[in-house]
Amino acid sequence: MGFESPVGCQAGRGGWLEYTPQNLDQFRCYFQPYLPPNVMAADLTVSSTDFTHLHPDYHLLPPRDLWPNLVPTLALLRYLMAVSGVSFQIHSVYRSSFVNSHSGGAAASAHMDCSGIDITPNTQPQKAIWLAKHIWYQKGASIKMGLGFYTSTRFHIDARAPHHPQKRRWGWGQSASVCQHHYNQHFSATLPDDIWPFNDNAALVPTPDESCGYSPSC
Ligand SMILES: [Zn+2]
Repeated sequence: MGFESPVGCQAGRGGWLEYTPQNLDQFRCYFQPYLPPNVMAADLTVSSTDFTHLHPDYHLLPPRDLWPNLVPTLALLRYLMAVSGVSFQIHSVYRSSFVNSHSGGAAASAHMDCSGIDITPNTQPQKAIWLAKHIWYQKGASIKMGLGFYTSTRFHIDARAPHHPQKRRWGWGQSASVCQHHYNQHFSATLPDDIWPFNDNAALVPTPDESCGYSPSC
């Protein structure tokens, strides 16, 4: 049985914005400045692999008031890519409460705030994963980083998720010294600070292009 895509909109956590060409254009325009290399705005419209597999014609967009929540997580993804040299496949970004409940998501899921992204490294998964864990230990507290593993290669990241006041992790348990050890095997220096995107907080406060037609209401 299929589900009808939702029409209209409902603002706030777990809400939705109707998947129309005009709304999709605004979504693309808004996120263009924040996209990591080789990631397209359309890649950010995937809500949940399992749900999409069962209901391929069901589409929605996150409500506009949640769009800024994704910007810090995209910055973290850019950093992961820049330091590791690895690209990632994106499996899940925003979930409405409806999609979340039909895909087994946690009630406190950062995906309902448009803050979580589930990814798999396209190459060198071990290298990318040790880097993610090392970042969590070294810098996670400063950005309230979430890092959760669903399989050995598929994992969740978020940063500054509105309903999570501190860093957290799930699905893995290596100590800081183990992560440091593995990081040292893959990378020659300490984490590069000069390209850490959270040094300039102003750059992470979205200033939407007026021509996008963005307004925080839905
Ligand atoms: Zn996730």
